Amino acid sequence: MPVLVTTRAGGVSAPPFGGPGSGGGLNLGDHVGDDADAVAANRARLAERVGLPVRYMRQVHGRQIALVRAPGPPPEADALVTDVPGLALAVMVADCAPVLFEAPTAVAVAHAGRGGMAEGVIGATVEALADLGARPDRLGVTVGPCVCAGCYEVPDGLRAEVERRVPGSAAHTRHGTAAIDLRAGIIGQLTRMGVTRIAVSGRCPAEDPELYSYRRDGRTGRFAGLAWLPSPPLRPGALIGLAGSAGLDEVAGLDEVAGLDLEGVVGVAGATATAEPS
Ligand SMILES: [Zn+2]
Repeated sequence: MPVLVTTRAGGVSAPPFGGPGSGGGLNLGDHVGDDADAVAANRARLAERVGLPVRYMRQVHGRQIALVRAPGPPPEADALVTDVPGLALAVMVADCAPVLFEAPTAVAVAHAGRGGMAEGVIGATVEALADLGARPDRLGVTVGPCVCAGCYEVPDGLRAEVERRVPGSAAHTRHGTAAIDLRAGIIGQLTRMGVTRIAVSGRCPAEDPELYSYRRDGRTGRFAGLAWLPSPPLRPGALIGLAGSAGLDEVAGLDEVAGLDLEGVVGVAGATATAEPS
């Protein structure tokens, strides 16, 4: 099942939503003050590259799941689930974790920052997939780029409250102050639900100029994580070479997107030991 994460590069947005260099930015957020036409152009560009319609959501840091089976307007939700091939699901982030779920018969994307993680959006997504027949032990989950513990300073009391709700999330910044480790918290939640195949990106938006970071920049854009079920293979004798299947394999290799595949699946120990960018 294809999953990918976009970067800032390859779009048309102007600063502060621009690309990492002087180029246009691929801001996908339509709620951050960017020019609406630019966002629409960026979204069209992404849909064209993926070769599929893309569903977004209005994210509110909660645990609401939306089951979607056709293109349409964004529901208010923090996770999208589908069992329909050929429909790409998108979660927008700029420090929160984009969590991408793959199974043979269903996919999902979830928005897991501190709020959603503590509210239980990860568990709710795993349960929604199970309702569609995708058991936790059959899932492959990718935790995309999110703010690292070293950068994610919070007040002591907040760290304690989140740790109570998400054991394993308490951490220290690289300065030794209280922090939340989103990656560790999410991996713990997944593991306790029986998910064993977990890949984790080591990229931290707050340290990576190729990614949008709200913590670093305040007013900024959103990059996205996507997952989809490929359309059914063409039958012998059907038309070959139409747009779609030929383009999908190329997506992860483009400069504009950082493809994350599950070849590099890591266990819990390896994931929590992920080295921070210096
Ligand atoms: Zn960091």
